[in-house]
Amino acid sequence: MQDTTGRTIRYLRLSVTDRCNLRCRYCAPGAVSHTAATELTAAQIEEIAAAAIALGMDKIRITGGEPLMRPDILDICRRVAALPGLNELCMTTNGILLADYAEELRKAGVNRVNISLDTLDADKFRTFTRGGELADVLRGIEAAEAAGLTPIKLNVVLMGGENDDEISAFVALTRDRPINVRFIELMPIGESADWPAERFISGDAVLSACPELQSNPQDGDGVARIYRLPGGVGKVGLISPMSRHFCARCNRIRVTADGKLKPCLHSEQEITLQGLHGEALADALRAGIAAKPKAHNMDANHPSESRRNMHQIGG
Ligand code: SAM
Repeated sequence: MQDTTGRTIRYLRLSVTDRCNLRCRYCAPGAVSHTAATELTAAQIEEIAAAAIALGMDKIRITGGEPLMRPDILDICRRVAALPGLNELCMTTNGILLADYAEELRKAGVNRVNISLDTLDADKFRTFTRGGELADVLRGIEAAEAAGLTPIKLNVVLMGGENDDEISAFVALTRDRPINVRFIELMPIGESADWPAERFISGDAVLSACPELQSNPQDGDGVARIYRLPGGVGKVGLISPMSRHFCARCNRIRVTADGKLKPCLHSEQEITLQGLHGEALADALRAGIAAKPKAHNMDANHPSESRRNMHQIGG
């Protein structure tokens, strides 16, 4: 379905929980909040996904919170993957539980995973995530490769003074492995809205750190600028929501774990889907697509207008 500015909306990001087993400092508050009681059920998720596919969505990403925290995650994936008209089912995960789930996710119909990883240093990982173990994520990456949840995308949020010294190490992962490392600019939303200016660095810092990277526009996937090391097997992507807004190419809508449609990640507008069925659900989805703003207002001086933290929206 097209929105009012002519963008074809075909990508649904579906959050299945806001619970998470990590508390990344830029993403989630230190205190744990559970809202399992208001989470959409697997049947409701299936119904929303089916209604979205009927309106032209052909790619769905399961996200959270940490989607693997849902005990019924395999059932959810099976239900959504079986819907006619869906081309791609993928998941964004922090990878902590992935080693146990990779094979089963593949069997349940998940095509591939994005794994979030902001450092390759175990001590820094504990600090960034408030207690997570890097080794669990590394095992998860290997299991995802073995299960064929590929190509794997590694999402690295750039934080000036925190992990920009690791840019080359992340880029080096793409030399011999079919991994796509994607550097994402830190966004001032929720927890990070008040962070000091020096934490927010541009994706171009990657090109300064690794001048040997070669641009290949034909590799482009919409929102990322794509590069490769000479002879490199994997790719390096730069996703720059701050320095290079890509709203004109935005083709997605989001649904939160408590059943609110967000037309734009950074607007405060939310449309209730929970409890709607049939034509009422389709109408609400159509209204959400029609409400997609032309662009967001977020920049270095204006934090996101979203009232939620990222773990409550789904990245
Ligand atoms: N738990 C899963 C994970 O860690 O990938 C999925 C949810 S997490 C909210 C999704 C993505 O949002 C992660 O890649 C995370 O790094 C990103 N994210 C969260 N807060 C962010 C921020 N302030 N700026 C940029 N990316 C952010």
